[in-house]
Amino acid sequence: RAHLEAIEALNPRLNAYITVTAERALEQAKASDARRAEGLAGPLEGVPLAIKDLFCTAGTRTTAGSRILGNFVPPYESTVSGNLLRDGAVFLGKVNLDEFAMGSSNTTSAFGPVENPWSRANDPDTRLVPGGSSGGSAAAVAARLALGATATDTGGSIRQPAAFCGIAGIKPTYGRCSRWGIVAFASSLDQAGPVARTVEDCAILLRSMAGFDPKDSTSADLPVPDFAAACARGVKGLRIGVPREYRLEGMPAEIGRLWEQGLQWLRDQGAETVEISLPHTKYALPTYYIVAPAEASSNLARYDGVRFGLREAAKDSDLRDLYERTRAAGFGPEVRRRIMIGTYVLSAGYYDAYYLKAQKIRALIKRDFDQAFQGVDAIVTPATPSAAFGMDERQDDPVTMYLNDVFTVTANLAGLPGLAVPAGLDAQGLPLGLQVIGRAFDEETVFAVGAAIE
Ligand code: GLN
Repeated sequence: RAHLEAIEALNPRLNAYITVTAERALEQAKASDARRAEGLAGPLEGVPLAIKDLFCTAGTRTTAGSRILGNFVPPYESTVSGNLLRDGAVFLGKVNLDEFAMGSSNTTSAFGPVENPWSRANDPDTRLVPGGSSGGSAAAVAARLALGATATDTGGSIRQPAAFCGIAGIKPTYGRCSRWGIVAFASSLDQAGPVARTVEDCAILLRSMAGFDPKDSTSADLPVPDFAAACARGVKGLRIGVPREYRLEGMPAEIGRLWEQGLQWLRDQGAETVEISLPHTKYALPTYYIVAPAEASSNLARYDGVRFGLREAAKDSDLRDLYERTRAAGFGPEVRRRIMIGTYVLSAGYYDAYYLKAQKIRALIKRDFDQAFQGVDAIVTPATPSAAFGMDERQDDPVTMYLNDVFTVTANLAGLPGLAVPAGLDAQGLPLGLQVIGRAFDEETVFAVGAAIE
């Protein structure tokens, strides 16, 4: 009830929730109380969570932030949200996101932008973005409108909003969480993960969300470790890599200082820091912005006005006219841009020049990490190249917007776990985050390092 009241008071301003399922939440909470009374409490019994509106929820509208799914009520539950319900969680509602998770500012949602609950000390009237695409998830948790939230990360959409809102968030190893029932953006990069106030809360939530699922052919058939226990391991004797290619020219000095401060905290606790090289880093953004739109253009072909969602037709529409009207009315400008880029790089004359080349560079980026992890246990970098920016800033130039993802896309391209940890404030009092990247399926070390920084 306290969370529902907070949502009622603050959501009109923040716009973090697209759908609030108040009645259902109270029913779930009651059932939760009953289970607790019988001594049957699950690991998340009664914990109120928000679900990114990209996870299908049985009987509750799931929009993906798009007009084209504005009336879509799934008949099934995504594996990840189902796992949370199995463990006793209570769902408060579905939270806002960039349309089809394409964006870094939550300004591309068909349901309006989300506002960051933080503001600049010297300029409190400028409304700031919460980051994206999981902007609703991060804003809801930061503003105390949920104890935790699900999110997804294709190129940074868990870690960048977590950093902008001063909370923690982890993109686990590709394959750790099932993608079944999550609206697909770029299937070889998409991963689900939690955002929460602390690293340990993320560890607790991830343990429930993760696990093998025969319904996702890329799901990993591995045991799920006790991530929360790993948070208390400490970092004594660990070797921490500091990639020199992540020292960007023109990056605010505060971010460099915070990075050095974080490394010092780790050294103080017994870790050793070593400079490493990830030589193909500079190709990561262009590679991502070929691979992700290519897969998106294919995944989004299913929105045809026939199978689900919006249908726009005139009396005399033939099939092609139905497609054109539905997709023209249903997709916003960023989604159309991605479909056009993706279709272009996959077309006969350009496939070798762009898509195939991007796939080869992706393999090199992965190899850089494989080599680095022969000498270090984890890698620490800034999470983002800046703090949260204003809602009206960076909106006119897609390429500037894409630069937000410079530190995060590499982990997706290589399939590795990446954790954003709140690490300090800039001169305007805005939160800044650091990122911990680990070996595939070694989230435990990532949590240990993250908890030591936090
Ligand atoms: N900002 C990136 C993009 O627009 C990442 C999005 C994501 O991780 N879903 O594609």
